[in-house]
Amino acid sequence: MKKKHALTVGVILLAATFLAWAIWQGPDSGPPQVQNLRSWQEADAPGGYEVEMEGGRRVPGFDHRLHLLSGIERFRIPLANRFDFPMGSTDGALTYNAQAFWEMNERRGGRHTGDDLNGIGGMNTDLGDPVFSVANGLVIYAGTPSRGWGKTLIVAHRTEDGEILQSMYAHLHSISVAMNTVVQRGERIGRVGGADGVYPAHLHFEMIDANGLSLSPGYLMHRTNRIDPTGTLEARRGPGPPVSIDLILENAERDQAGF
Ligand SMILES: [Zn+2]
Repeated sequence: MKKKHALTVGVILLAATFLAWAIWQGPDSGPPQVQNLRSWQEADAPGGYEVEMEGGRRVPGFDHRLHLLSGIERFRIPLANRFDFPMGSTDGALTYNAQAFWEMNERRGGRHTGDDLNGIGGMNTDLGDPVFSVANGLVIYAGTPSRGWGKTLIVAHRTEDGEILQSMYAHLHSISVAMNTVVQRGERIGRVGGADGVYPAHLHFEMIDANGLSLSPGYLMHRTNRIDPTGTLEARRGPGPPVSIDLILENAERDQAGF
């Protein structure tokens, strides 16, 4: 008898707890709002689809900070067993670093997210000089994210330890490769510019440690996924011969010929 009684009390308590929980939960708040399929956010509709949002159905804004590389993109990123410099010779000769990585810039209110590489002649003397992919890679961004960034490229590289690193080339005068192109180390991918007159010509060059597209302002107070560009290149020179000076000259000639 005693046991049965205890069981009844237990069941009642359980039912009461569940009822309290159900009341506390309130009415169903509806499905989670969808932002983009390839994102960390709760997603169940492809990007570009209209979804129910406050104020009616519309296509949600795209937040590139939450954009991950797709399976196919990751598969196509080639092995990068050697990294060279993006301007001048393979070891960066004929250029200087006008504003180093993580230097504080009081005027811009933050620390510099890349290296500003400039031709040794200074100012606009490097306008139109070739910009090379620092390693074998896949072009995962080619476009103009803002007026300040100007024409910008991001190339993804697979390192020998399986990590994905990205190189970013900004303020370009022109872009010579399309999105999703596989490029080789030393291949000309663009020309040095000044974001269409916003700055004297130079290459803003970043190295990024990320698995998705990650465009940020050029000055930050927190390091996020930006890594020291020149330091990374120097640490990852790796095996293999340097790109021949012939290829660099050939690129320069093609540049002058307007290809
Ligand atoms: Zn810069």
